Amino acid sequence: MPTPTVGSEFSFELLVCRWAELDWRPTEAGGGDASGASADGTPVIVSRQLGTQRRRWDTIVIECDPAGFAARRSFGDRAIDGDLLPIVRHAPAEWAYYRDALPDPGYPWRYVREAIHRAASRGLVDERKSGNRIEIRRKRPYPDWVERIVAVENKPDLDASAAAALSDQLEHDVETALADEVWLATGRTGDRVEPALLRQFPVEAGVLTFDFGTADGVGVGADAATVDWLPSELEVGAPSDQFDAEEKARRRRLIAERAYGKGWRSITETMRPDCRKFEVARAGRGVVPVCGAKGRCQTESECGSRCDSFEPEPPQWRTKGWPIEGGPGQGVRTLLERRRERARDR
Ligand code: SF4
Repeated sequence: MPTPTVGSEFSFELLVCRWAELDWRPTEAGGGDASGASADGTPVIVSRQLGTQRRRWDTIVIECDPAGFAARRSFGDRAIDGDLLPIVRHAPAEWAYYRDALPDPGYPWRYVREAIHRAASRGLVDERKSGNRIEIRRKRPYPDWVERIVAVENKPDLDASAAAALSDQLEHDVETALADEVWLATGRTGDRVEPALLRQFPVEAGVLTFDFGTADGVGVGADAATVDWLPSELEVGAPSDQFDAEEKARRRRLIAERAYGKGWRSITETMRPDCRKFEVARAGRGVVPVCGAKGRCQTESECGSRCDSFEPEPPQWRTKGWPIEGGPGQGVRTLLERRRERARDR
């Protein structure tokens, strides 16, 4: 099996996500307790490549209210999307005509009716017909389960052009203040002053430097990060140039829901674990995908249906348990799925 390397932003990003799961939240004194909860016991959900149309963050950490998070779990493992969320949040305790119970959507009500059918089929609300009218009732209150949203931008190599582009992105994050905190994660150089501190980044953004190298190779552990600069808390409740306070709260709920449903191991849905060259390699306390054809960690964009080296798993690999359990590709999917479930369960 090829040795994993963290040469790409993609593999760096996966290891940062795993580290966040092990050790959130970073302080100058140290981090969490390696149990998927922060040092004060706050449950955390880690996800990647989420945000708004204009801005997509590399890593997202959702710090959750413990009781609210337990209540959110009762709505299932899937994200509640933007069409369903107003219905789930505003469905009344007693049966009511849906137009009386829900806020004006700002688009035709027939789309709301479709969303109600979808919410009811997922068991999120109750629905019934009363004459010609559709009535709804909540099954349980939707909780306020999100305490804080933290955005992390990953850039393992911080050369001058990368730093200039990043500076604009971080400025945008600080101005919109959709996240409570913004961090830059970069590779540690060992210089007396890390280059990230010499760049023109907004002072509100924190800086984390990572060393994923170990004596045995590459790896992630709870102690992989150093805090070089602590971030400032942003004003998420205040309106910004882009969004009023209500729209900001709506977007934050959607980001949190998508993070909850997706996690960060959803690479099994975007890469090709069914390729015979797809392997996973241990990297300290994490695993990263490795391509046997390329001899390194492949990127997410390389490992798709257009890859010239793609070869489907031979059927004989699957004979044990096939087609119920599948071959190694299905095994990788199952492994990462199980880990995603465990992260939610903690
Ligand atoms: S699809 Fe391509 S990049 Fe992905 S594992 Fe197969 S050969 Fe490697």
